[in-house]
Amino acid sequence: MSDRDSTDVDRVVVALDVGGTGMKCALVRPDGVAVRTERHPTDAARGPQAVIGTILDVALGLADKARADGLTPVAVGIAVPGVVDEARGVAVWSANVGFRDVPLRDLAAARLGLPTALGHDVRVGGLAEARLGAGRGAGHVLFVAIGTGIAAAHVVDGVAAVGAHGAAGEIGHIMVRPDGPRCGCGRPGCLEAVASASAIGRRYAELAGGSTGGAVTAAEVASRAAAGEPLAGRVWQEAVEALADGLASGQALFDVATIVLGGGLAQAGDLLLDPLRAALHERMTFHREPRLVAAALGDEAGCLGAALLALDAMGVRDHQERR
Ligand SMILES: [Zn+2]
Repeated sequence: MSDRDSTDVDRVVVALDVGGTGMKCALVRPDGVAVRTERHPTDAARGPQAVIGTILDVALGLADKARADGLTPVAVGIAVPGVVDEARGVAVWSANVGFRDVPLRDLAAARLGLPTALGHDVRVGGLAEARLGAGRGAGHVLFVAIGTGIAAAHVVDGVAAVGAHGAAGEIGHIMVRPDGPRCGCGRPGCLEAVASASAIGRRYAELAGGSTGGAVTAAEVASRAAAGEPLAGRVWQEAVEALADGLASGQALFDVATIVLGGGLAQAGDLLLDPLRAALHERMTFHREPRLVAAALGDEAGCLGAALLALDAMGVRDHQERR
């Protein structure tokens, strides 16, 4: 703790995780510790140009605060949702932020004068969970974020697969129920149309008719199921079975040691993990069963992962492992 001589102590990465409603921002040390965190509204309704302006202003502000605190900002890491071309540093497409081919990496690098990396929010979240969080030490990790949608990151030895077109990990669009509800992508029965947090709330409301007294969240369905309400129990179990089908496909493809569940639905904890482990176990034939755990880093994962990505791009690696 007293090695003030080490340059690692003073160096930080300016990290931003941009979502549809808010931006989580932090100054992150090379060992993966956030020394300052901030939140700002994205206010995506203003349009992509205004959002880009806010991202650059916030990043610059954080870099200034770092210097004022005697720290040295060495890089910028930015995570965004949608389709992200990491190699070119371009936010290719995003439904909830409105990006279309935004060269965000080069814009930030020019504005801040620092090397910048651009990543996908779920992929960098998976990167952080695999290296610093619940998947630490596992080597082969599948991180699955379950919220309004479902997406995954496949991380091998601390590197998340991006795909040839920046679209790897779309496990939410594995078809699990051919006669199921239509997905936002246009196809019927995708995993996220059946088992995302929003799909669970929708399904419960649909079956309950007008008797729910308004919208019911997936967390509420989980607690009603745990309290023994038959309808909630049925909806929850349907979702668990669909998730198990999706995860079994993931395991057939990737053969990971650990599956880390994140996103809003994972906050149901054992109400989700216990039945899901059992359902996944039933589906394993010759495949080895993965360890199934809840994410450990909460909503800081995206920010920490964006910082790791930026450090990786600079060739700074194995800092966490040395801790
Ligand atoms: Zn779909």
